Amino acid sequence: ALVRFGPDGAVAHVNGDIGISLPESADDNGWTILLADRVVQVIEPARFQALGIECSPDIPGVLVAPIVDEGAAFAVLVVVDRNIQASFGREDTARVKSIAEQLAVSLRRGMLHERLEWEARHDALTNLPARTLFERHVADAVASVESSPPAWVVMLDLDRFKEVNDTLGHHAGDDLLIQFAGRMSSLLGPGDVLARLAGDEFAILCSRQSREEIVEFTQSCVVEAGRPVILDDLEIVVTVSVGVAQISSTDHDAVQPMRRADIAMYNAKWQRTGVEFYRDEIDRRTPARLSMLGDLRTAIEADQLEVVYQPKLHLATGNVVGVEALVRWMHPTRGVVAPSEFVRVAEDTGLIKQLTDLVLSHGIKMLSEFDDHHLPLGLAVNLSTHDLFDSRLPDRVRDHLEANDVAPSSLTLEITESSLFVDAPRTRSTLDELHDVGLRMAVDDFGTGYSSLSYLRRLPVHELKIDQSFVAGMLTDQQDEVIVRSTVDLGHNLDLLVVAEGVESLPVLDRLREIDCDVAQGYVISEPIPAEELIDWLRGADSRAWLGPAE
Ligand code: C2E
Ligand code: MG
Ligand code: MG
Repeated sequence: ALVRFGPDGAVAHVNGDIGISLPESADDNGWTILLADRVVQVIEPARFQALGIECSPDIPGVLVAPIVDEGAAFAVLVVVDRNIQASFGREDTARVKSIAEQLAVSLRRGMLHERLEWEARHDALTNLPARTLFERHVADAVASVESSPPAWVVMLDLDRFKEVNDTLGHHAGDDLLIQFAGRMSSLLGPGDVLARLAGDEFAILCSRQSREEIVEFTQSCVVEAGRPVILDDLEIVVTVSVGVAQISSTDHDAVQPMRRADIAMYNAKWQRTGVEFYRDEIDRRTPARLSMLGDLRTAIEADQLEVVYQPKLHLATGNVVGVEALVRWMHPTRGVVAPSEFVRVAEDTGLIKQLTDLVLSHGIKMLSEFDDHHLPLGLAVNLSTHDLFDSRLPDRVRDHLEANDVAPSSLTLEITESSLFVDAPRTRSTLDELHDVGLRMAVDDFGTGYSSLSYLRRLPVHELKIDQSFVAGMLTDQQDEVIVRSTVDLGHNLDLLVVAEGVESLPVLDRLREIDCDVAQGYVISEPIPAEELIDWLRGADSRAWLGPAE
């Protein structure tokens, strides 16, 4: 009989049945003593019995040959000869010793091969099955779909993983993936297979009797993933988008259900819904999204994109000090499409450069109109992360300014907090150049990213815009109020102008004024205004009594 132990000491492999109770692990009491000497020995049945190892009394003697690698026995060869009445002799011992040595070599080679194969099929970081192995499991589930309980493919993709990687470094990113893998593993039922397909993309194959059960399971995945993670002493929250597809009897291979789960996952990400089940409609909508790309290209060329302007109010004086340019797509059949729907499409397709140029050109023309009307107002334009990757951006902006004879200091570029950290060195040099052109810079949606204070301090920015998610709830949620208040203090300590976004009510406006916030923007002041109505609105702004400072 041959018994091989795994790295943890448990039995990895047994071959042969010889009427002796074989070791159950490398630390099996009696056997440990026998293997300790690491030499080939003949053992009498009485000795086995004394060690508490069952051994048939008919056997006259047993040869025990530990198979040794790097000083430790990782296997044992146990030999009995049923045909002779006498025990083994010296010659037998020598022969078994040489067999054991040869076995050591080939077992080691076999184990290496096994390990390489395991590594090829598993992900080294998380030890989870990798894509090929997962596909094989799914293919098995597809093959047995008629005879088994319903099986589901669940795709999971972390949201904003790249940001964590770029901001906190790759070790933190790795740490996050390991923690995520551990959390998902803890939720698995018997027979479920969790795999890491690539980067931050994971998948689970599971069988559940009903759709309700799988809904419950995937919800628990979302909740578990959303619990804060400690990375580098920072507590951060990372969410996950989940797509689910049931394996159907019309599937022929693993690719089909995995593709459906993937489509559902992208839908969940797109709509920020957490979990989506695959439906034929979303598949049909994919071509629609593609046609939207075609449309967007034409829209830019046909000037269907419009720019609207939202006023910014200086709280201490009650004066309107500027406007933010916000793009709108006047779609001939879909109606007004919000930027959240197409800015990302524009980024993914390289159309963002044209989009930004378009908004810059409309906005800067508006600035020269302000001049014509003697309105001393600034204007802000939103940039996308992709704009910051374009080293020609500063020149492009300068060209627009010069063509319209507008001073750079009246233009503010808004950059979202999260995009500041994507490839920081590259964005940093663009930011510095923009600064050299004489433009103002604002950090948009502040509070939603992971910027560190020290980094922020070194950036050439002038303005901090507190994200509307904190402002909206500041009168009802004490934490939000604390965040807004400390952001105002923080901004002032860094010599920045602090703007609150999404101000929807007068009480919030008053509270912001009390805590010394500089500027407010939101529906309570005005919704974004179409270009042709803007000058009139601005002219009448002084007469709006509620804009005045509180007594
Ligand atoms: P943002 O730059 O933070 O713009 C503020 C958003 O909040 C605008 O949405 C605005 O309409 C909305 N808003 C203003 N006041 C209120 C309020 O009181 N309550 C609430 N709930 N919302 C308010 P919009 O126009 O849909 O733009 C959304 C985002 O799309 C913008 O966020 C910006 O990041 C991006 N975006 C807009 N225009 C452009 C653009 O021209 N280029 C680029 N790259 N991104 C743009
Ligand atoms: Mg903005
Ligand atoms: Mg914002």
